[in-house]
Amino acid sequence: MRYEDFYQRSIDDPEGFWAEQARAIHWHVPPRAILEYGDPPFRKWFAGGTTNLCHNAVDRHLDARGDQLALVAISSETGETREITYRELHDEVNVFAAMIRSLGVGRGDRVVIYMPNMAEAVFAMLACARIGAVHSVVFGGFAAHNLALRIDDARPKLLVCADAGMRGGKVIPYKPLVDAACEKARHPPAHVLVVSRGLAPEPAWVPGRDIDHAALRAEFRDARVAVEWMESNEPSYLLYTSGTTGKPKGVQRDVGGYAVALALSMWAIYDVRAGQVMFSTSDVGWAVGHSYNVYGPLIAGATSILYEGLPTHPDPGVWWSICEKYGVRTMFSSPTGIRVLKKQDAAWLRKHDLSVLQWLFLAGEPLDEPTAHWITEGIGKTIIDNYWQTETGWPVLSLMPGVDMKPVKFGSPGLPMPGYRIRVIDEGSGEDVAPGEKGVLVIEPPLPPGCLTTVWGDDARFMASYFSHFKERLYSSLDWAIRDEDGYAFILGRTDDVINVAGHRLGTREVEESCSTHPDVAEAAVVGVRDALKGQVPVVFATLKTAGEDVAGTAEAIRAQVGRQLGAIARPARVYVVGALPKTRSGKLLRRSLQALAEERDPGDLSTLDDPGALEEVRRALGRGADAGG
Ligand code: AMP
Repeated sequence: MRYEDFYQRSIDDPEGFWAEQARAIHWHVPPRAILEYGDPPFRKWFAGGTTNLCHNAVDRHLDARGDQLALVAISSETGETREITYRELHDEVNVFAAMIRSLGVGRGDRVVIYMPNMAEAVFAMLACARIGAVHSVVFGGFAAHNLALRIDDARPKLLVCADAGMRGGKVIPYKPLVDAACEKARHPPAHVLVVSRGLAPEPAWVPGRDIDHAALRAEFRDARVAVEWMESNEPSYLLYTSGTTGKPKGVQRDVGGYAVALALSMWAIYDVRAGQVMFSTSDVGWAVGHSYNVYGPLIAGATSILYEGLPTHPDPGVWWSICEKYGVRTMFSSPTGIRVLKKQDAAWLRKHDLSVLQWLFLAGEPLDEPTAHWITEGIGKTIIDNYWQTETGWPVLSLMPGVDMKPVKFGSPGLPMPGYRIRVIDEGSGEDVAPGEKGVLVIEPPLPPGCLTTVWGDDARFMASYFSHFKERLYSSLDWAIRDEDGYAFILGRTDDVINVAGHRLGTREVEESCSTHPDVAEAAVVGVRDALKGQVPVVFATLKTAGEDVAGTAEAIRAQVGRQLGAIARPARVYVVGALPKTRSGKLLRRSLQALAEERDPGDLSTLDDPGALEEVRRALGRGADAGG
């Protein structure tokens, strides 16, 4: 089947298309309507149908593949690997469901899960799905304040946590953070279920509230809990993401639409079918973790690999050794992950047998061309950039090797995925821009199955955040994009990160890409910094591959190179060479903090900062003055 025909069918006949896709999952009661769209932009996919995510991910596979591996949880931090078959997963999820039910959790109740990448996090998520509880996984890197904000918004009955996580050999106790968050929160959960790996010293215990997982588990050893059949549009989970205000938004996902979209994406996009193996290096706390470490691969009857640890420990070949050992067909990671490896010897890429590996998908941030080339040549596989957002739950833009593999264009995440009516429009006029021209990437509603249904408890915020930017009611991605003559889209960065230099708009990404074509640059971050004459000027913070002798000379060379490649308007006013760039734990550059520091303002909310040392470096570099004058 041609990509064009497959995609076009989803646009011309969405109900016919999605009715067909819906056959891939089990329905307890079939939908009465494929789409109900009486109250735009709110829409109901598979209205009236009842199904269950846990049933589709686990129970449904027992007959055909009970003894096949469902989940392999590998920790290079603890050194432990757990291989779990579908039958074992079914047992574990039933026990977990019985446990949380005994703590008073039922259909519609929220459960906050605050755990690292460990098997129990997956059991907890699936157990919630089984009994119709709404889980909200909070990334383990978030501190007590962020956790408290999410608790107060979701108002969970139960919080499930681990005693600790580990990163780079260092134990990070979670329980004290949970205690602090519960103290701060106005609506703390009635119970905290603590899964102990014996990593942290015995934590303080709040009698009556805190429950020891091992002890409770012993009471429900052979428990069976019936699946709760959910109406397709009931909430399945919440996943908080930052908005423009300090209050995180609870992206709300449904049940049926999500299951159908994931089922489609698994074969069509990720090219993984039942019995095959997918390895996503994401964290369960992110959207990719939800969709492609947990629900997607399991709904497909595949084997999912969950990895806790650094990409460089015990050695920089660890990911590829996992691919070899388990016969991974499709791997999913982030550009940052690959850039970490890029600082290591490329010989690590060739140490393992990757004959089963077909595709490496990368998402979450712009994939710069030098990194794309480096990894493509290094492992000799096709690299597929795919673009999506926490809100969409699955790719908006990608290539579809499971349907019809179109050529990769470096720098582009590809073509629209089924159901996404994308347009690139002028920010001011709202008119479509011509191919090759820059505009805002928008999606014409109704959004396809799988995308957010609303912001938890706040329909008005859902409307204001996403559907109020243009005269027509379009979903704004808040990303700049260009489409070329072939329909490939190129993402130029967030509309909220724009640099305006003397009235000319510059995407931070354009300048960053240009910087990273300099042979010494490992990574570059560009921010717009206030300038009395030009409004804003681009300022670069760059890390180098090797600590060179002549840092000032390199900085000047970067500056000159950008000027040469993009024109004088884009030439950075200053280039600061630093040892590390400030990033969130998920690898997103904290551009706004960089910008604030460069403008001698307060760097703002730093709770998601991965490495405080990076920020200190930036402060020091700024204090020293420009490495290259401007
Ligand atoms: P998040 O919801 O945290 O995953 O962030 C979504 C944002 O990440 C998008 O709005 C984009 O700005 C960026 N993003 C995600 N994937 C890509 C990609 N493949 N290329 C460029 N930017 C991306």
